[in-house]
Amino acid sequence: MASPAIGIRRHSAGRCPTSVEIIDHPSPNFGERRNGEAPDLIVIHYTAMTSAKAALERLCDPDAEVSAHYLISEAGQTTRLVAEECRAWHAGAGAWGGRGDVNSRSLGIELANDGTAPFSARQMDALEHLLAGMLQRWDVPLHGVIAHSDMAPMRKSDPGPKFDWHRLARSGLSVWPGGQTDRTADFQQAARIFGYPQAEPEALLAAFRRRFRPWASGPLDAVDRAMISDLAARYPVDPDAASA
Ligand SMILES: [Zn+2]
Repeated sequence: MASPAIGIRRHSAGRCPTSVEIIDHPSPNFGERRNGEAPDLIVIHYTAMTSAKAALERLCDPDAEVSAHYLISEAGQTTRLVAEECRAWHAGAGAWGGRGDVNSRSLGIELANDGTAPFSARQMDALEHLLAGMLQRWDVPLHGVIAHSDMAPMRKSDPGPKFDWHRLARSGLSVWPGGQTDRTADFQQAARIFGYPQAEPEALLAAFRRRFRPWASGPLDAVDRAMISDLAARYPVDPDAASA
């Protein structure tokens, strides 16, 4: 079984003790990571349910066959459902960086959110605290922090355009494109080099903009191309292939 880079602290000390205490509420929905894989991705979701309580019930319902490692409530309460060493069932069909079975190589965080509401400051604070620890424990690269919609652009749209990816990047918990216009590659090709899976062009652009340019509309433009080109140049899945 995979093991973390450093020990997991059950109750972390932090700047805001009420928001970082982790409650354990084990879900029966998990298994072993296949081939002993260690997580190199962290997938962020929203629950698309009316409350954290309803989401917790579903994520622990054996008939639902879904789970995540953590659920963070609207008020910022973090609940651990599945041990980080184990394989939670949150990602489903999809791929990132040319590899599928994302569940075996990822950690999943569900944010209680109905899909339309903004994410509260307390929820984001709790997420940032949790993410910082996970990145360190497993040595996950910053470009391995992705949206569910990134790895499944044809199926999923969470955590949606209201999720503040720019804030995560400013906090050093995710990546953000520089947007230099001197690097413009083919959008689809650059998206694949960055990690996106094969998808219809419209779905791919929608997934990209949801995360990096939620205020944009209209057809693919030079800004999209510059941003994805910058990401592909700085964070290629396969550095050898990207520079070839
Ligand atoms: Zn999801």
